[in-house]
Amino acid sequence: MPNSGEFAIIERYFSRRSARPDVLLGVGDDAAALRVPADQVLVAAIDTIVAGTHFPDGTPPADIGHRALAVNLSDLAAMGAQPAWALLSLSLPVASGEWLEQFAAGFYAIADRYQVSLVGGDTVHGPLVVTVQILGFADPAQLLTRSGARPGDYIYVTGVPGEAAGGLAVIQRNLQGSDGDYLRQRFLRPEPRVAAGIAARKLAHAAMDVSDGLLGDLTKLCSASGCRARVELESLPQSRSMHALFDDAECERLALAGGDDYELLFTVSPELAARFEADVGSTVRCTRIGTIVGAATRSDVGVDCYRHGVRVSVDALSSYDHFAPPS
Ligand code: ADP
Ligand code: MG
Repeated sequence: MPNSGEFAIIERYFSRRSARPDVLLGVGDDAAALRVPADQVLVAAIDTIVAGTHFPDGTPPADIGHRALAVNLSDLAAMGAQPAWALLSLSLPVASGEWLEQFAAGFYAIADRYQVSLVGGDTVHGPLVVTVQILGFADPAQLLTRSGARPGDYIYVTGVPGEAAGGLAVIQRNLQGSDGDYLRQRFLRPEPRVAAGIAARKLAHAAMDVSDGLLGDLTKLCSASGCRARVELESLPQSRSMHALFDDAECERLALAGGDDYELLFTVSPELAARFEADVGSTVRCTRIGTIVGAATRSDVGVDCYRHGVRVSVDALSSYDHFAPPS
Protein backbone atom coordinates (compact mmCIF):
# COMPACT_ATOMS: atom_id res chain seq x y z
CA MET A 1 0.00 0.00 0.00
CA PRO A 2 1.48 3.43 -0.91
CA ASN A 3 2.52 5.28 2.23
CA SER A 4 0.05 8.15 1.94
CA GLY A 5 -2.79 5.69 1.30
CA GLU A 6 -1.87 3.62 4.30
CA PHE A 7 -1.60 6.67 6.53
CA ALA A 8 -4.95 8.01 5.37
CA ILE A 9 -6.67 4.66 5.98
CA ILE A 10 -5.29 4.33 9.50
CA GLU A 11 -6.14 7.94 10.28
CA ARG A 12 -9.64 7.74 8.90
CA TYR A 13 -10.84 4.30 9.95
CA PHE A 14 -8.69 2.92 12.76
CA SER A 15 -7.69 5.84 14.96
CA ARG A 16 -10.57 6.08 17.37
CA ARG A 17 -9.34 7.21 20.77
CA SER A 18 -9.38 4.55 23.41
CA ALA A 19 -11.78 4.88 26.31
CA ARG A 20 -9.64 2.56 28.45
CA PRO A 21 -7.46 4.24 31.09
CA ASP A 22 -4.98 1.33 30.86
CA VAL A 23 -4.01 2.41 27.30
CA LEU A 24 -1.01 4.69 27.79
CA LEU A 25 -0.28 4.83 24.06
CA GLY A 26 -2.53 3.46 21.33
CA VAL A 27 -2.67 3.85 17.55
CA GLY A 28 -0.22 6.44 16.20
CA ASP A 29 3.14 5.68 17.75
CA ASP A 30 5.58 2.93 16.84
CA ALA A 31 4.08 0.63 19.45
CA ALA A 32 1.31 0.64 22.01
CA ALA A 33 1.96 0.90 25.74
CA LEU A 34 -0.51 -0.91 27.96
CA ARG A 35 -0.84 -1.35 31.70
CA VAL A 36 -1.59 -4.85 32.99
CA PRO A 37 -3.29 -4.80 36.42
CA ALA A 38 -1.01 -5.72 39.32
CA ASP A 39 -1.01 -9.46 40.15
CA GLN A 40 -2.50 -10.37 36.78
CA VAL A 41 -0.80 -11.97 33.81
CA LEU A 42 -1.01 -10.92 30.17
CA VAL A 43 -3.03 -13.43 28.12
CA ALA A 44 -2.43 -13.25 24.35
CA ALA A 45 -3.85 -14.96 21.28
CA ILE A 46 -3.75 -14.32 17.54
CA ASP A 47 -5.89 -15.59 14.70
CA THR A 48 -5.86 -14.94 10.98
CA ILE A 49 -8.85 -15.19 8.69
CA VAL A 50 -8.35 -15.49 4.94
CA ALA A 51 -10.96 -14.69 2.29
CA GLY A 52 -12.09 -17.86 0.54
CA THR A 53 -10.74 -20.06 3.35
CA HIS A 54 -12.29 -18.82 6.61
CA PHE A 55 -15.17 -16.89 5.11
CA PRO A 56 -16.73 -17.04 1.64
CA ASP A 57 -15.71 -14.42 -0.91
CA GLY A 58 -18.39 -11.76 -0.93
CA THR A 59 -18.97 -11.88 2.84
CA PRO A 60 -20.25 -8.46 3.97
CA PRO A 61 -17.29 -6.43 5.30
CA ALA A 62 -19.05 -5.70 8.61
CA ASP A 63 -19.31 -9.44 9.20
CA ILE A 64 -15.61 -9.88 8.42
CA GLY A 65 -14.76 -7.16 10.94
CA HIS A 66 -16.95 -8.83 13.55
CA ARG A 67 -15.56 -12.27 12.88
CA ALA A 68 -11.90 -11.23 12.99
CA LEU A 69 -12.29 -10.01 16.56
CA ALA A 70 -14.90 -12.58 17.67
CA VAL A 71 -12.68 -15.59 16.93
CA ASN A 72 -9.91 -14.03 19.01
CA LEU A 73 -12.24 -13.13 21.88
CA SER A 74 -13.32 -16.76 21.88
CA ASP A 75 -9.73 -17.85 22.59
CA LEU A 76 -9.51 -15.50 25.56
CA ALA A 77 -12.92 -16.67 26.77
CA ALA A 78 -11.61 -20.24 26.77
CA MET A 79 -8.86 -19.16 29.16
CA GLY A 80 -11.28 -17.39 31.51
CA ALA A 81 -9.42 -14.17 30.70
CA GLN A 82 -10.70 -10.59 30.58
CA PRO A 83 -10.11 -9.15 27.09
CA ALA A 84 -8.72 -5.62 26.93
CA TRP A 85 -6.76 -4.68 23.78
CA ALA A 86 -6.47 -5.72 20.16
CA LEU A 87 -4.03 -5.22 17.29
CA LEU A 88 -5.26 -5.47 13.71
CA SER A 89 -3.17 -6.42 10.70
CA LEU A 90 -5.06 -5.83 7.50
CA SER A 91 -3.99 -6.97 4.04
CA LEU A 92 -6.24 -5.40 1.40
CA PRO A 93 -6.42 -5.95 -2.36
CA VAL A 94 -8.04 -2.54 -2.90
CA ALA A 95 -8.56 0.40 -0.58
CA SER A 96 -12.31 0.89 -0.97
CA GLY A 97 -13.69 3.52 1.37
CA GLU A 98 -17.07 1.85 1.51
CA TRP A 99 -15.53 -1.52 2.36
CA LEU A 100 -13.29 -0.03 5.07
CA GLU A 101 -16.18 1.94 6.56
CA GLN A 102 -18.29 -1.19 6.97
CA PHE A 103 -15.41 -3.38 8.10
CA ALA A 104 -14.44 -0.85 10.79
CA ALA A 105 -18.09 -0.53 11.89
CA GLY A 106 -18.34 -4.32 12.37
CA PHE A 107 -15.02 -4.44 14.18
CA TYR A 108 -15.69 -1.51 16.53
CA ALA A 109 -19.25 -2.67 17.30
CA ILE A 110 -18.08 -5.93 18.87
CA ALA A 111 -14.97 -4.26 20.33
CA ASP A 112 -17.21 -1.77 22.15
CA ARG A 113 -19.50 -4.49 23.46
CA TYR A 114 -16.53 -6.23 25.08
CA GLN A 115 -14.73 -3.01 26.07
CA VAL A 116 -11.78 -3.89 23.85
CA SER A 117 -9.58 -1.04 22.54
CA LEU A 118 -7.86 -1.21 19.17
CA VAL A 119 -4.34 -0.08 20.05
CA GLY A 120 -2.34 -0.75 16.90
CA GLY A 121 -1.84 -2.79 13.80
CA ASP A 122 -0.50 -2.82 10.30
CA THR A 123 -2.03 -2.04 6.93
CA VAL A 124 -0.61 -3.53 3.74
CA HIS A 125 -1.55 -4.20 0.13
CA GLY A 126 -2.18 -7.85 -0.73
CA PRO A 127 -4.88 -10.53 -0.80
CA LEU A 128 -7.72 -10.05 1.70
CA VAL A 129 -6.30 -11.37 4.96
CA VAL A 130 -7.25 -10.13 8.43
CA THR A 131 -5.15 -10.91 11.48
CA VAL A 132 -6.14 -9.83 14.96
CA GLN A 133 -4.05 -10.20 18.05
CA ILE A 134 -6.04 -10.03 21.24
CA LEU A 135 -4.54 -9.16 24.60
CA GLY A 136 -6.18 -9.49 27.98
CA PHE A 137 -5.43 -10.46 31.51
CA ALA A 138 -6.26 -12.97 34.18
CA ASP A 139 -5.37 -14.03 37.69
CA PRO A 140 -2.71 -16.70 37.05
CA ALA A 141 -4.26 -18.94 39.72
CA GLN A 142 -7.59 -18.94 37.87
CA LEU A 143 -6.51 -19.53 34.28
CA LEU A 144 -8.61 -22.16 32.54
CA THR A 145 -6.54 -24.57 30.47
CA ARG A 146 -7.06 -27.61 28.28
CA SER A 147 -5.02 -29.80 30.57
CA GLY A 148 -7.05 -29.70 33.79
CA ALA A 149 -9.76 -32.32 33.07
CA ARG A 150 -10.03 -35.17 35.60
CA PRO A 151 -11.81 -38.52 35.46
CA GLY A 152 -15.36 -38.12 36.73
CA ASP A 153 -15.73 -34.55 35.47
CA TYR A 154 -18.92 -33.69 33.64
CA ILE A 155 -18.43 -32.25 30.14
CA TYR A 156 -20.44 -29.16 29.18
CA VAL A 157 -20.75 -27.22 25.94
CA THR A 158 -22.20 -23.74 25.47
CA GLY A 159 -24.67 -22.83 22.74
CA VAL A 160 -25.58 -25.24 19.96
CA PRO A 161 -22.58 -26.72 18.12
CA GLY A 162 -23.32 -27.33 14.46
CA GLU A 163 -25.39 -24.21 13.83
CA ALA A 164 -22.42 -22.31 12.38
CA ALA A 165 -21.55 -25.13 9.99
CA GLY A 166 -25.25 -25.27 9.14
CA GLY A 167 -25.09 -21.55 8.37
CA LEU A 168 -22.14 -22.05 6.05
CA ALA A 169 -24.10 -24.78 4.23
CA VAL A 170 -27.03 -22.35 3.95
CA ILE A 171 -24.73 -19.81 2.28
CA GLN A 172 -23.12 -22.37 -0.03
CA ARG A 173 -26.47 -23.88 -1.05
CA ASN A 174 -28.17 -20.48 -1.14
CA LEU A 175 -31.07 -21.68 1.04
CA GLN A 176 -33.84 -19.16 1.73
CA GLY A 177 -36.19 -18.62 4.67
CA SER A 178 -36.07 -17.63 8.32
CA ASP A 179 -34.29 -20.76 9.58
CA GLY A 180 -31.63 -20.20 6.95
CA ASP A 181 -31.36 -16.55 7.95
CA TYR A 182 -30.89 -17.51 11.59
CA LEU A 183 -28.21 -20.10 10.84
CA ARG A 184 -26.38 -17.80 8.41
CA GLN A 185 -26.07 -15.29 11.24
CA ARG A 186 -24.75 -18.00 13.56
CA PHE A 187 -21.94 -18.56 11.04
CA LEU A 188 -21.27 -14.92 10.12
CA ARG A 189 -21.61 -13.47 13.61
CA PRO A 190 -20.18 -15.89 16.17
CA GLU A 191 -20.75 -14.59 19.71
CA PRO A 192 -17.68 -15.17 21.89
CA ARG A 193 -18.59 -16.69 25.26
CA VAL A 194 -16.52 -14.26 27.30
CA ALA A 195 -18.98 -14.03 30.21
CA ALA A 196 -19.24 -17.82 30.38
CA GLY A 197 -15.46 -18.19 30.54
CA ILE A 198 -15.19 -15.65 33.33
CA ALA A 199 -18.12 -17.19 35.26
CA ALA A 200 -16.50 -20.63 34.92
CA ARG A 201 -13.01 -19.78 36.08
CA LYS A 202 -13.53 -20.64 39.75
CA LEU A 203 -15.61 -23.71 38.90
CA ALA A 204 -14.30 -25.57 35.85
CA HIS A 205 -11.26 -27.85 35.77
CA ALA A 206 -10.60 -27.37 32.06
CA ALA A 207 -11.88 -25.34 29.13
CA MET A 208 -11.34 -24.97 25.42
CA ASP A 209 -13.10 -23.23 22.59
CA VAL A 210 -14.65 -25.25 19.79
CA SER A 211 -13.51 -23.92 16.44
CA ASP A 212 -12.61 -27.02 14.43
CA GLY A 213 -15.48 -29.33 15.39
CA LEU A 214 -16.71 -30.62 18.76
CA LEU A 215 -15.24 -34.13 18.63
CA GLY A 216 -11.88 -33.07 17.23
CA ASP A 217 -11.50 -30.30 19.78
CA LEU A 218 -12.66 -32.49 22.66
CA THR A 219 -10.00 -34.98 21.56
CA LYS A 220 -7.39 -32.22 21.87
CA LEU A 221 -8.62 -31.44 25.39
CA CYS A 222 -8.38 -35.14 26.27
CA SER A 223 -4.83 -35.31 24.88
CA ALA A 224 -3.79 -32.30 26.94
CA SER A 225 -5.41 -33.77 30.06
CA GLY A 226 -4.36 -37.40 29.52
CA CYS A 227 -7.88 -38.80 29.68
CA ARG A 228 -10.82 -40.05 27.60
CA ALA A 229 -14.23 -38.49 27.08
CA ARG A 230 -17.57 -40.26 26.86
CA VAL A 231 -20.14 -38.27 24.88
CA GLU A 232 -23.85 -39.15 25.08
CA LEU A 233 -25.18 -38.31 21.61
CA GLU A 234 -28.80 -38.02 22.80
CA SER A 235 -27.68 -35.21 25.13
CA LEU A 236 -26.34 -32.93 22.38
CA PRO A 237 -28.20 -29.60 22.30
CA GLN A 238 -30.65 -29.56 19.40
CA SER A 239 -31.52 -26.70 17.09
CA ARG A 240 -34.99 -26.25 15.69
CA SER A 241 -33.61 -24.36 12.70
CA MET A 242 -31.07 -27.10 11.96
CA HIS A 243 -33.79 -29.77 11.99
CA ALA A 244 -35.95 -27.63 9.72
CA LEU A 245 -33.27 -27.67 7.02
CA PHE A 246 -31.19 -30.83 7.48
CA ASP A 247 -31.99 -34.47 8.22
CA ASP A 248 -31.13 -35.96 11.64
CA ALA A 249 -27.87 -37.56 10.46
CA GLU A 250 -26.64 -34.30 8.91
CA CYS A 251 -27.60 -32.34 12.04
CA GLU A 252 -25.56 -34.74 14.15
CA ARG A 253 -22.61 -34.75 11.76
CA LEU A 254 -22.49 -30.95 11.75
CA ALA A 255 -22.84 -30.81 15.55
CA LEU A 256 -19.93 -33.22 16.03
CA ALA A 257 -17.59 -32.25 13.21
CA GLY A 258 -18.73 -28.94 11.74
CA GLY A 259 -16.36 -26.05 12.40
CA ASP A 260 -16.67 -22.37 13.31
CA ASP A 261 -18.85 -22.84 16.40
CA TYR A 262 -16.77 -20.70 18.77
CA GLU A 263 -18.59 -22.29 21.67
CA LEU A 264 -16.80 -23.35 24.85
CA LEU A 265 -16.21 -26.83 26.25
CA PHE A 266 -15.82 -27.15 30.02
CA THR A 267 -15.13 -30.01 32.36
CA VAL A 268 -16.47 -29.67 35.90
CA SER A 269 -16.38 -31.92 38.95
CA PRO A 270 -19.85 -33.32 39.83
CA GLU A 271 -19.72 -31.56 43.24
CA LEU A 272 -19.55 -28.14 41.52
CA ALA A 273 -21.91 -28.99 38.66
CA ALA A 274 -25.03 -27.41 40.17
CA ARG A 275 -23.22 -24.12 40.84
CA PHE A 276 -21.61 -24.24 37.42
CA GLU A 277 -24.98 -24.78 35.73
CA ALA A 278 -26.48 -21.87 37.65
CA ASP A 279 -23.60 -19.41 37.16
CA VAL A 280 -22.45 -20.25 33.64
CA GLY A 281 -25.99 -21.17 32.56
CA SER A 282 -27.12 -17.66 33.46
CA THR A 283 -24.76 -16.24 30.80
CA VAL A 284 -25.54 -18.65 27.95
CA ARG A 285 -27.26 -21.96 27.22
CA CYS A 286 -25.00 -24.66 28.61
CA THR A 287 -25.57 -28.39 28.15
CA ARG A 288 -24.02 -31.42 29.84
CA ILE A 289 -23.01 -33.78 27.03
CA GLY A 290 -20.86 -36.40 28.71
CA THR A 291 -18.23 -37.42 31.22
CA ILE A 292 -14.45 -37.56 31.46
CA VAL A 293 -13.10 -41.04 32.13
CA GLY A 294 -9.62 -42.23 32.94
CA ALA A 295 -7.17 -43.33 30.27
CA ALA A 296 -5.55 -46.74 30.70
CA THR A 297 -2.26 -45.55 29.21
CA ARG A 298 -0.75 -42.28 28.06
CA SER A 299 -1.71 -43.03 24.48
CA ASP A 300 -5.22 -44.18 25.39
CA VAL A 301 -6.71 -40.70 25.02
CA GLY A 302 -9.71 -39.88 22.85
CA VAL A 303 -13.46 -39.63 22.65
CA ASP A 304 -16.11 -42.37 22.68
CA CYS A 305 -19.67 -41.70 21.59
CA TYR A 306 -22.71 -43.51 22.99
CA ARG A 307 -26.34 -43.42 21.92
CA HIS A 308 -28.70 -44.45 24.73
CA GLY A 309 -25.91 -46.43 26.33
CA VAL A 310 -24.72 -48.17 23.15
CA ARG A 311 -21.28 -47.36 21.77
CA VAL A 312 -21.37 -45.75 18.31
CA SER A 313 -18.40 -45.53 15.96
CA VAL A 314 -17.65 -42.02 14.82
CA ASP A 315 -14.38 -42.72 13.03
CA ALA A 316 -15.80 -41.28 9.86
CA LEU A 317 -16.07 -37.88 11.54
CA SER A 318 -12.95 -35.81 11.82
CA SER A 319 -12.39 -32.16 12.47
CA TYR A 320 -11.35 -29.57 9.97
CA ASP A 321 -7.61 -29.64 9.34
CA HIS A 322 -6.07 -26.95 7.15
CA PHE A 323 -3.27 -29.24 6.04
CA ALA A 324 -5.19 -32.48 5.72
CA PRO A 325 -4.59 -34.25 2.39
CA PRO A 326 -7.65 -34.20 0.13
CA SER A 327 -9.82 -37.29 0.68
P1 ADP B 1 5.29 1.48 11.55
O1 ADP B 1 5.73 1.78 10.15
O2 ADP B 1 6.07 2.18 12.61
O3 ADP B 1 5.08 0.02 11.81
P2 ADP B 1 2.67 2.09 10.63
O4 ADP B 1 2.82 3.25 9.71
O5 ADP B 1 2.52 0.74 10.07
O6 ADP B 1 3.85 2.16 11.69
O7 ADP B 1 1.44 2.36 11.59
C1 ADP B 1 1.28 3.61 12.22
C2 ADP B 1 0.44 3.44 13.44
O8 ADP B 1 -0.85 3.00 13.05
C3 ADP B 1 0.96 2.43 14.43
O9 ADP B 1 0.63 2.88 15.74
C4 ADP B 1 0.20 1.19 14.10
O10 ADP B 1 0.08 0.36 15.24
C5 ADP B 1 -1.14 1.74 13.66
N1 ADP B 1 -1.85 0.93 12.66
C6 ADP B 1 -1.47 0.59 11.41
N2 ADP B 1 -2.42 -0.11 10.78
C7 ADP B 1 -3.44 -0.25 11.66
C8 ADP B 1 -4.70 -0.89 11.62
N3 ADP B 1 -5.15 -1.56 10.54
N4 ADP B 1 -5.48 -0.83 12.73
C9 ADP B 1 -5.05 -0.18 13.82
N5 ADP B 1 -3.89 0.45 13.93
C10 ADP B 1 -3.08 0.42 12.86
MG1 MG C 1 3.93 -0.98 9.91
